[in-house]
Amino acid sequence: MAATLNVAVIGAGVAGLSAARQLKKNGHRVTVYEKSDRLGGIWVYDPRVESDPLCRDPNREIIHGSLYKSLRTNLPRHLMGFSDYPFRVAKNGHVNNFPGHAEVLKFLDEFAAEFELAGLIRFNTEVVRVEQVEGCRNGEKWVVESRRTSQLSSEEEVFDAVVVCNGHYTQPRLAEFPGMEKWPGKQSHSHNYRDPEPYKNLVVVLIGHSASAHDISREIALVAKEVHLSTRSKDVTLSKFDDYQNIWQHSKIDHVDENGEVVFEDGESIHADAILHCTGFKYEFPFLNTNGVVNVDDNRVGPLYKHVFPPELAPRLSFIGIPYRVIVFQMLELQAKWIAQVLSGNALLPSREEMLADVEAHYRQLEENGIPKHHTHLLCNYDSSMEYLDFLAAQAGVPPVDPELKEMFNNLFKFAYKHGFNSASRDLWDENWRPEE
Ligand code: FAD
Repeated sequence: MAATLNVAVIGAGVAGLSAARQLKKNGHRVTVYEKSDRLGGIWVYDPRVESDPLCRDPNREIIHGSLYKSLRTNLPRHLMGFSDYPFRVAKNGHVNNFPGHAEVLKFLDEFAAEFELAGLIRFNTEVVRVEQVEGCRNGEKWVVESRRTSQLSSEEEVFDAVVVCNGHYTQPRLAEFPGMEKWPGKQSHSHNYRDPEPYKNLVVVLIGHSASAHDISREIALVAKEVHLSTRSKDVTLSKFDDYQNIWQHSKIDHVDENGEVVFEDGESIHADAILHCTGFKYEFPFLNTNGVVNVDDNRVGPLYKHVFPPELAPRLSFIGIPYRVIVFQMLELQAKWIAQVLSGNALLPSREEMLADVEAHYRQLEENGIPKHHTHLLCNYDSSMEYLDFLAAQAGVPPVDPELKEMFNNLFKFAYKHGFNSASRDLWDENWRPEE
């Protein structure tokens, strides 16, 4: 008979909702802790920004959200549904293939209502500590300490398993370059970017190469004097954007100086007023105490078997949502299914030694291919991300991701290569787009 466990899920974003749904379906008792007052995680637009624009002050109030006001998805809605619950155009909704953030949130509200998940969530309740109950074998009992918003006292509860779904787009990773501390202009991270107004009439250097960096640079260019996009990609040389009068592409920053000068590696320099770091985020689990079993080292969370289970503590501790550059919602759903099946005893994990050996082999492979540690969880190309999704489906005992969706994801990369990937070019895409066009 399948086991019924008492499971804590930390976070009510897409990962936490997926976990809650699958655990509930497998008959487990589920408590989802959510520190904010609503579900949806990163898809809840928060107009507030943090008091420290570079987010280095340990005493600041942390804002979870990193969305900017105008953000539209960077995956088409076809790739943002669940296997049995597609993200269709809402009644009276926009027909955009890449909808705005509010539409994604509405979709998640509907998803949670359809599968009756809201009743499992304890809103306004932040998890402040998770650790094994002392003396318990193989992590079989976990204590979760939580605190309700605006209350000083906390509460402890004991669970059979914990699924960590706290998201990883909140704590900025910053670019580092000589002179950064004494540079007189204003510096900020995209986590604190909401709209272009603060950059009006300024000369702005924007560091990064992601979809957000491209969107934000174009949005800022509408009000700024000049925008200089800097990337560490090796093949970049100084050039002006064809479709904009005031955006230039540059190489990596070499250094900045006290007079406000920004000097690039190719020797070019400009006098700038602001630097905006669109340089990604760091994994953080401030509540988790595993006595050093699970660590974050240079953005490597580990050791984790297939980015989900720490071999020493599996299966009673697991993580959803760690890998990136993948069909995200489908991956979160499959990881949740795998965890639910393992906790029920319907799917078996390899031995602790085999899982550790697999993690070691993965690290060795990264090293041999010259992939830096901080990219451990990047599924670096189409093949590796599809292989990963197929692996999850096989472990969970469910059909693999729809081949049409896989092909669409593959074509999307080719589209981006051909047309760029900003708000405007995304409108040239539709689900029938093929590389030969
Ligand atoms: P989150 O959505 O971050 O949810 C984590 C939840 O945990 C939050 O609600 C938070 O309040 C809660 N929490 C955290 N700590 C605690 C605690 N201690 N106690 C209690 N609760 C806690 N993906 C796509 O598929 N398509 C896109 O177009 C896309 N665009 C993106 C654009 C941006 C700018 C960013 C930042 C991300 C984008 N993503 C996109 C990725 C997106 O993050 C994932 O799609 C997905 O929403 C991640 O869900 P999650 O549940 O893992 O994390």
